[in-house]
Amino acid sequence: MRQKIFEERELILELFPGTSPELLPPGEVLYYRDGEGRVHIQENPLHLVLEPLERASSTTPIICEACHRHVSRTAAQFFRFAVGENPRHFRYAALCRDTESCSGAARPERLREILLRGILP
Ligand SMILES: [Zn+2]
Repeated sequence: MRQKIFEERELILELFPGTSPELLPPGEVLYYRDGEGRVHIQENPLHLVLEPLERASSTTPIICEACHRHVSRTAAQFFRFAVGENPRHFRYAALCRDTESCSGAARPERLREILLRGILP
């Protein structure tokens, strides 16, 4: 069933490459951290790269925006990402430092929302 939805997304992208990302059927969402500490959220053909920021001194627990769990300040990390084509317009997100554990708990719908915040102006 899931596979069928992915195919529909690919078909629409092929036939109507200009379709707004908001209107596409859901695809497979990839969520991972690379060797340089950047977090990637990907749903073809969209790809958002989140750049890690320095640790703040606050100790207030925060809610991870991907998995919605309360995490201690040391288990979380702030990231920023450029919005659309404008390299000087940034949005920020707080996520688990442990991307692997987070990706097991994060719902694709939630990841998709973060991804669209970086793609849509
Ligand atoms: Zn998380």
